[in-house]
Amino acid sequence: MTQHTPFPAATILGYPRIGPDRELKRAVESFWAGRTDAAELTASARALRADLRTRLRGLGLDAQDASIPSDFTFYDQVLSVAAQVGAIPARFDDLRDQNGSLDLAGYFTVARGEGDRAPLEMTKWFDSNYHYLVPEIGPETAFDLVETPSVAAFTEAAEDGVITRPVLVGPITFLLLSKASEAAPDGFSPLDRIDDLTAVYARWLAAFAEAGAPWVQLDEPGLVSDTWPISRAELGELVSRVYTTLAGASERPALFVAAPYHRLGSAFTPLARSGVEAIGLDLVRGDVPDDVAGADLSGVTLVVAGLVDGHNVWRTDLDAAHEKLTALRGAAGPEATVAVSTSTSLFHVPHTVADEPQLPAQLRSWLAFADEKVGEVRALAAGPERAADAFEASRAVRANRAGAEGVTVPVVRERTGRLSKADFARSDYPTRQAAQRAALDLPELPTTTIGSFPQTAEVRRARAKARRGDITGEEYLAAMRAEIDRVIALQEELGLDVLVHGEPERNDMVQYFAENLDGFAVTQNGWVQSYGSRCTRPSILWGDVSRPEPITVQWSTYAASRTDKPVKGMLTGPVTILAWSFVRDDQPLGETANQVALALRDEVADLEAAGIGLIQVDEPALRELLPLRQEEHEDYLDWSVNAFRLATAGAGDATQVHTHLCYSEFGEVIGAIDGLDADVTSVEAARSKMEIVPDIADSSFARGIGPGVYDIHSPRVPSTAELTGLLRIALGSVDPHQLWVNPDCGLKTRGYEETTASLRNLVAAAREARAIVQA
Ligand code: GLN
Ligand code: ZN
Repeated sequence: MTQHTPFPAATILGYPRIGPDRELKRAVESFWAGRTDAAELTASARALRADLRTRLRGLGLDAQDASIPSDFTFYDQVLSVAAQVGAIPARFDDLRDQNGSLDLAGYFTVARGEGDRAPLEMTKWFDSNYHYLVPEIGPETAFDLVETPSVAAFTEAAEDGVITRPVLVGPITFLLLSKASEAAPDGFSPLDRIDDLTAVYARWLAAFAEAGAPWVQLDEPGLVSDTWPISRAELGELVSRVYTTLAGASERPALFVAAPYHRLGSAFTPLARSGVEAIGLDLVRGDVPDDVAGADLSGVTLVVAGLVDGHNVWRTDLDAAHEKLTALRGAAGPEATVAVSTSTSLFHVPHTVADEPQLPAQLRSWLAFADEKVGEVRALAAGPERAADAFEASRAVRANRAGAEGVTVPVVRERTGRLSKADFARSDYPTRQAAQRAALDLPELPTTTIGSFPQTAEVRRARAKARRGDITGEEYLAAMRAEIDRVIALQEELGLDVLVHGEPERNDMVQYFAENLDGFAVTQNGWVQSYGSRCTRPSILWGDVSRPEPITVQWSTYAASRTDKPVKGMLTGPVTILAWSFVRDDQPLGETANQVALALRDEVADLEAAGIGLIQVDEPALRELLPLRQEEHEDYLDWSVNAFRLATAGAGDATQVHTHLCYSEFGEVIGAIDGLDADVTSVEAARSKMEIVPDIADSSFARGIGPGVYDIHSPRVPSTAELTGLLRIALGSVDPHQLWVNPDCGLKTRGYEETTASLRNLVAAAREARAIVQA
């Protein structure tokens, strides 16, 4: 490749794919429900892609210069690569045609499972709340370019007059995120297959070249992390090998390798030397690599500065960003071209602030969602002279934010300022354990759930009506109580040991608290993709946090009044509240976390005073915020664990504190799980077949543990035999006195039918396991 189209001066790494009105969610879900067929779904997706292109053109991205990314996927970008390179596990072979290609229904089956066929495992994408599907790679994986919807999407846009820039997960990141297949021998690593996969990418690039794509973006966020089983040096060698090969291919578009989410560091040089045309740096989370200054960036290499935060919603400090850009230009030297971009894809943020007319005008003026960020990228590319108005507006926002009421609240500051060590500690575990045994009458292997029960249309309707004022407070209360009655009766009928109220009043486990705490705002349309068709609406934590009045007590006490069994109170932990909100960027996270923790501590005290003897404080996002660089782990684990302890340490000895975590390589945070000092910890484990359990046993974790046995992310009903099998595995490593029996996570996304059947099997499996233990 000798000549290439210049890289656009301003671009974004990616754009929300779900649609401003969640069009993709609706289209996909109606296909799943059988209301539409594959042709209709294909047509809706095509229309959505066209709309998004039109939208980006309207925001000023050029139709001809490859600045508009083409990053559509029906479910997940990792799964979409897997499907195109033929990396689908053998258990789905019957769903593939003679070329190895899956039809739409087959693609969704790999994502969601079906009958006894388990889907791919799902886990968090870097330090975000997006979940990708984990490819299973072994020596048997037959890599091949089996289908190319990504190329077809480029052609479709070109026919519509738009030259897009296709975006693919790069081969190194793809394999770093994969796990070894069941058939793989011990010691096998998916990375062992890198050369075979690189060869398929070379063919893929040739197909893009043939279709006329001037640029292809390969996302390699894997390169910014040092938490992989291979060293940075080995990673650097891999970069050389893969990208020298791809850059050396004769038929290919220009290559843009993007490294979002942190700093590229030592992976920069091998990439710069490989012959790729452009490298994307995250200058929000990362910095300008030292090696930029010394590197030979003459000729083709161009550095794309990710200066606008793709992962948060605050308007960019354009002066500071411009300064970084100037520094990068200086380091890169006059031979290199530097373009402006976002730090990550914008699929982590909602579409536009314009859809939030109900937000206070002042707060609104501080925010930039995806569409506004496109404007910021363009302003930075234009520079402070040509975009003087934008720079001036950015200065005004900063000044306004710093002085706004509620951003700094003296009483909140005084309380965090007064904290001492004792506020973070409970009695030792044996003391608590004895007090709890006396207070709670629980069988061996107690059964429980993680908190939420299915959210029926009726419950959602009641909440919506209450929000709109269509029903009175009493009517709403009666509707919620009726639901709690139903959930309590069901749990009693199923024979569960520790009951929950079911969380019908919560639209979302974080938003519910955000709505009831000062310092937060909630959006109306701020949806972002969480996994597949699932979206969440992160709240905006903009000011100092405090709790004006009790939040959950009325629901938990009502539930407790309806049963003789123990009822577990249910709170969302400080780290998760932060992780799943857009958090103020003007003070350290640890400081904000302690404010949230104190608000929760008051809630724990009120629940306890109202007679609730078990309180669960969910921290599913504990692992998610773990920094991608090891040198930052200690600091992170320190403030996050402490915030949880601050929230819970006010509880008396007899109060059993539970916590729940999900989506993890728990091995990495096992020390932290111990540090939380919860009496009982439930963790996600079903999809990975209890892989976590030996880690827990090895860590000499002594308190209660409930590795989830029922995968709630899939509609399939696990059989009693399967669940008993998983409990047997758990009992192989965990003392029976420690073991709890529970699903992987909350049940709110499930239907009642499958939930009831699954929980029935779960209770039966617990009984079988008790018999095994006693025998
Ligand atoms: N208590 C929450 C629920 O059951 C926990 C959800 C989660 O871990 N994501 O919905
Ligand atoms: Zn969970």
